[in-house]
Amino acid sequence: MTETITVIPGDGIGREVVPVAVAVLDAVGDFEFTEYDAGDRVKEATGEALPEETKRAAEESDATLFGAAGESAADVVLPLRSAIDSFANVRPARAYPGVDALHPDADLVFVRENTEGVYAGIESDLTEEVRTLTRLITEPASRAIAEFGFDYAAEHDYEVTVAHKANVMRRTDGLFLDTAERVADEKGADYETALMDALAMHLVMNPADYGVVICPNLAGDMLSDLAAGLVGGLGLLPSANIGPERALFEPVHGSAPDIAGEGVANPVATVLSAAMCCEFLERSESAERIRQAVMEVLADGPHTPDLGGTAATEDVERALLDRL
Ligand code: ATP
Repeated sequence: MTETITVIPGDGIGREVVPVAVAVLDAVGDFEFTEYDAGDRVKEATGEALPEETKRAAEESDATLFGAAGESAADVVLPLRSAIDSFANVRPARAYPGVDALHPDADLVFVRENTEGVYAGIESDLTEEVRTLTRLITEPASRAIAEFGFDYAAEHDYEVTVAHKANVMRRTDGLFLDTAERVADEKGADYETALMDALAMHLVMNPADYGVVICPNLAGDMLSDLAAGLVGGLGLLPSANIGPERALFEPVHGSAPDIAGEGVANPVATVLSAAMCCEFLERSESAERIRQAVMEVLADGPHTPDLGGTAATEDVERALLDRL
């Protein structure tokens, strides 16, 4: 069966790294790609950052591969994630041989609730000088992320930590934590819990003590960026936005306007996102081939400047395709 993949390069280095991921996917499988626009460029031309046809394509295809959007990121990524009802954001952060990482033994996966918390967008102006934000936590969303996180950990053989701040946010994170603990009991799964602020410190000092970290939305966003710093930078971190039927894959990094157009962006984060896409489409062998090629290229080079090398994006692409 040929699966359909919507390809949205977007802005900045998204336009440089997404074609590499598409070439890699093309080398390992039989996929049908259709490219669509989103982001600042199309907004300038049409007034809309996320054209209706792009959103519809994401809703209808088997998977979507997205690069990055610049200023309009919130108007692109959030509606795209909700178009596929994405409830889970999965962000693996692992160190690779050959990359100068602060913690070469780190192998973490952040499983982040993707719809609520302080990112639910419930803000208001009480007066000109006072503004508020409502933190939304529900049992169904907490249950969905906990079930996904515990299943992912069991499947990939990781230990689980549930991150929270229920000692302060007693009602909201109390519900998040209680729900995760109930799910763990139902599944007979082992886990530990951690206050998210103390966890940030422990992750910096001893990341190898952790595996899957199940987090509320904002905590997952921040802790996974912190973990990027532990393993060699944003150029290496892939992510998956999982919905009940479809999923959207994107690098954790943004459009990187400071290096866009120079041809030196590291494509590995997006290529590893493509490997996650293969896994989601139950093409484990293709996923493994991509990961193996990435590991070999990271071990032997060439490396882009973010990893201390002098290679261009296309040199890394060629090295990956040679291995595949
Ligand atoms: P945006 O507003 O789109 O999020 P940003 O510059 O604020 O853009 P990132 O795009 O995530 O945030 O970039 C943060 C830093 O990491 C920048 O200095 C950027 O050059 C660097 N960076 C991010 N991704 C890569 C990559 N794939 N290769 C090399 N450097 C990268």
